[in-house]
Amino acid sequence: MRRIGVLALQGSFIEHIATLKRLGVEPPAVKLPKDLVGLDGLIIPGGESTTIGKLATTYKLIEELKRLGEDGLPIWGTCAGMILLAREIEGDSQTRLGLMDIAVERNAFGRQVESFEADLVIPALDGVSSEEEKGKSFRAVFIRAPSVKRVGEGVEVLAALDEGVIVAARQGNLLATAFHPELTEDNRFHRYFLNLVEL
Ligand code: GLN
Repeated sequence: MRRIGVLALQGSFIEHIATLKRLGVEPPAVKLPKDLVGLDGLIIPGGESTTIGKLATTYKLIEELKRLGEDGLPIWGTCAGMILLAREIEGDSQTRLGLMDIAVERNAFGRQVESFEADLVIPALDGVSSEEEKGKSFRAVFIRAPSVKRVGEGVEVLAALDEGVIVAARQGNLLATAFHPELTEDNRFHRYFLNLVEL
């Protein structure tokens, strides 16, 4: 059975764990470096990126996470997780893994009250969609979400809002979404990540 760890320091890790369980995957909660041993993939959940970064430093996870990501471990960051994956955080020097060649802006859509949902067309999900799901848009939940301002050459844009703002991207083994797929019933993004793990 595949083991997809979920970084469980702060944020919406319980929802990711529940979705992975429904998909028949073992989802160990990662709190310490020893929990990273033997993983086939890792999810960094949404929450507060500064808090997750500080806790990951305290628990000595940062260097090990960087090494695993550089060695090709599939890592998916959702919302705050995306911020932690980014090489550049506009106007901010907070702790990050810096694994992915993207620049992000935190709280790009305003404060909590400006949280919103949007239906996104994501062709990359067709590969994991049933006949019934094919072509169906993905309901994306944005909560004090970041946006992707720039992507490097090796980065594939997976989804953008109508105005062109990039909200999902992939660079080889690394996946980033500005929204929260773990908060909806639609688990196509989790299946897409599991496909990356199988590659
Ligand atoms: N605004 C948060 C941050 O900057 C991210 C919000 C989220 O993960 N839902 O870290």
